[in-house]
Amino acid sequence: MTITTESLKAGTAQLNPYTMALQQLDEVANHMHLDPNIHEYLKYPKREITVSIPVLLDNGSLKVFQGYRVHHSLARGPAKGGIRYHPNVSLDEVRALAMWMTWKCAVVGIPYGGAKGGVVCNPKELSLKELERITRRFTSELIVILGPEKDIPAPDVYTDSQIMAWIMDTYSMNKGYSVPGVVTGKPISIGGSEGRNEATARGCVYVIMEAFQKKGVDPSKAVAVVQGFGNAGSIAAQLLQKEGCTVTAVSDSKGGIHNPKGLDIEKVVEYKKKTGTVVGFPGADSISNEDLLELPCDVLVPAALENVITGKNAPRIKAKLIAEAANGPTTPEADKVFKDKGIMVLPDILANAGGVTVSYFEWVQDIQAFFWSEGEINSKLKQIMTRSFAQVYSIAEREKVPMRLAAYVLALGRVAEALTVRGIYP
Ligand code: NAD
Repeated sequence: MTITTESLKAGTAQLNPYTMALQQLDEVANHMHLDPNIHEYLKYPKREITVSIPVLLDNGSLKVFQGYRVHHSLARGPAKGGIRYHPNVSLDEVRALAMWMTWKCAVVGIPYGGAKGGVVCNPKELSLKELERITRRFTSELIVILGPEKDIPAPDVYTDSQIMAWIMDTYSMNKGYSVPGVVTGKPISIGGSEGRNEATARGCVYVIMEAFQKKGVDPSKAVAVVQGFGNAGSIAAQLLQKEGCTVTAVSDSKGGIHNPKGLDIEKVVEYKKKTGTVVGFPGADSISNEDLLELPCDVLVPAALENVITGKNAPRIKAKLIAEAANGPTTPEADKVFKDKGIMVLPDILANAGGVTVSYFEWVQDIQAFFWSEGEINSKLKQIMTRSFAQVYSIAEREKVPMRLAAYVLALGRVAEALTVRGIYP
């Protein structure tokens, strides 16, 4: 079934991500007594494009793929958000993700509106050449809305720096000159930024350190557990260890490893490079992904999938702090449990905003054609993440609400203010 706005209204799509995003918006709007006109305005994406992408496959047959790009709000700046290639991409998923990007950019105060895009395809079944043809035709179909001053895509699920390079090249070929600022997450050789690869994890660890300070946790005595050992998770584990934490368990899609005395994360990274998984790492016991979440620790970092912490397992979770490196790992039912237990959750729109923040730095560097050192990037990132944490924390304290609601109050307040001062055109 295709999920449409109509089916949402008819209540036929209970677990639809766009329904969830709209419910969240309603809750925050009610909590903060948002102007009903602004609330109504923000329920709808500003624009959405559906394109057909005809592609010649390597076997000579033609296949037409569906692609989407949604701009949720451009009130605070050009559209920013990733492009995902996945068989389950749907227009409603892209709409929800675009709305979440609006909030994420607003929480960290970077001058962007929210966007997202996707192509319904299975990259695991496509050759590199087929992926290139899909990407170039998709870019060409979207060209009217793309551009450094209009819409700047980035990598997301199953898209990477190579795909960003093809987008940049296709856009540039159409313009007749190189336009590096049209995408972020590019290779450094064509205008990518130092520090972008580590940015999500680094930003997450900066806010964890701030939360530790508030809670009186000494990082050198702290225990950390990380689910997911990809870009966000493996780098977060390494950085936490550098801060002095003992990382007792990590996992990937094949399973987890646990050593209460601590794992040597550099060695786990090497091991995973060789074997493709953390499972079987010498000197550690194996543990399931479910049990790993319930280990006692000072900080639990879900860095893999959405909806892994639910109303069912939340009562058994012993972490003192949860930092959402992944998008949407905690369900609203679990949030209620943590609120009652006084467990602080650093929400995704704050905890993983380091990625989009360094994307913003990449865009700024591309536009000014002047590049910064990794040290400069990291120090600017730290400034933004610690400032954002402090702002969210002070709302949480003042209004006696969890950090997630506080982050949404901050974000929605900023977007509402921009809409109000700009006024409704015409
Ligand atoms: P990735 O593909 O590099 O890594 C994902 C990891 O999760 C892999 O180690 C994989 O084995 C593991 N995994 C998959 N299924 C699992 C399962 N069932 N149980 C446990 N582990 C499982 O992806 P990533 O870029 O690290 O992204 C992870 C999360 O962080 C996603 O939710 C993503 O949206 C979010 N995020 C990433 C960035 C970024 O810049 N990379 C930015 C913002 C948010």
